[in-house]
Amino acid sequence: MSGERRAVYSGPRELEPLVRDELGARFTVRWVPPEDDALAKALREAAVFLDASMRVRITAAMVDDALDLALVVTATTGADHIDAAALARRRIPLLTLKGQSEVLNGLTPAAEHSWLLLLACARSLPAARAHVTEGGWDRTRFPGVMLRGRSLGIIGCGRIGQWMARYGHAFGMTCRGYDPYLTAWPEHLIRTDLPELLAVSDFVTLHVHLTEATRGLLRREHFEAMKPGAVFVNTSRGELVDEAALLDALRAGRLRGAGLDVLAGEPEIADHPLRRYAAEHGNLVITPHIGGYSPDAVATVLRFSAGRIRAHFEGGR
Ligand code: NAD
Repeated sequence: MSGERRAVYSGPRELEPLVRDELGARFTVRWVPPEDDALAKALREAAVFLDASMRVRITAAMVDDALDLALVVTATTGADHIDAAALARRRIPLLTLKGQSEVLNGLTPAAEHSWLLLLACARSLPAARAHVTEGGWDRTRFPGVMLRGRSLGIIGCGRIGQWMARYGHAFGMTCRGYDPYLTAWPEHLIRTDLPELLAVSDFVTLHVHLTEATRGLLRREHFEAMKPGAVFVNTSRGELVDEAALLDALRAGRLRGAGLDVLAGEPEIADHPLRRYAAEHGNLVITPHIGGYSPDAVATVLRFSAGRIRAHFEGGR
């Protein structure tokens, strides 16, 4: 490889030094904010574009103006924000994280957050915290569930579901999984069907992508079939679930609690009935879709993506 190549990076600014280090001396790196005009201008000078902003749009006009552009790498699984056809016309490769299981399987924040929600429900964390901030100190109001020996039901046993099984096993739980498409079942995860999983699980956790086939996957009859006193966790998508049925199960006391990182219609949640219920009740904890959001994970995928950029040019392609 001869000379320095110009790389344009759009993503968390504090990770610019990491990108610089990972790309090495053969690249000059310029950070650009994820704004159309700034980016279009910077791309005109760039050989490589590395995106971890999750916000920019790369349009056909930007691509057509970027005469030196030879590679686009996005540290995301989806690439809807990039005009792939315009890149293809210029034979500029577009590398995404889709299918890069080597790096994706090692990203644990969403699973860790799911586990946090499960623990928060097991120990009534929102209610106990509110009790103390109001000046109370009465432990008898917050009996905790001992996880060891309890049953964890995992719906969707892919990347995140399998991390949940590992955590459940470490906590001494019996882990059952329902996933009609999984062929290789990990150790410590007992394959089961949905009715059995719902009937026996003390904790039910959902880890399925939202598609037309999975929309409304958990219906009213599923919430009614859950073991009395069970906890439900959803960090996947609100639309996978009949949220009105979930709310009824909480109101009726059939569920001990629920932990949610997602709501249908988010981010417009002001009038969401589950949000309103959570404001008045301590057995529903809702977080604002933060499960996968971690600079540590962004750093990991940036390191991986920078390695792919080096390999691309060193391979002489
Ligand atoms: P994955 O593709 O690795 O696993 C999904 C699993 O669901 C697959 O094994 C698939 O076979 C299974 N599945 C498909 N249809 C099913 C069905 N009808 N019943 C049961 N199982 C079914 O996905 P993942 O990376 O584990 O992600 C799971 C979910 O977590 C997705 O909805 C994703 O959007 C969400 N997610 C949320 C956050 C967050 O910030 N809260 C972060 C990352 C991922």
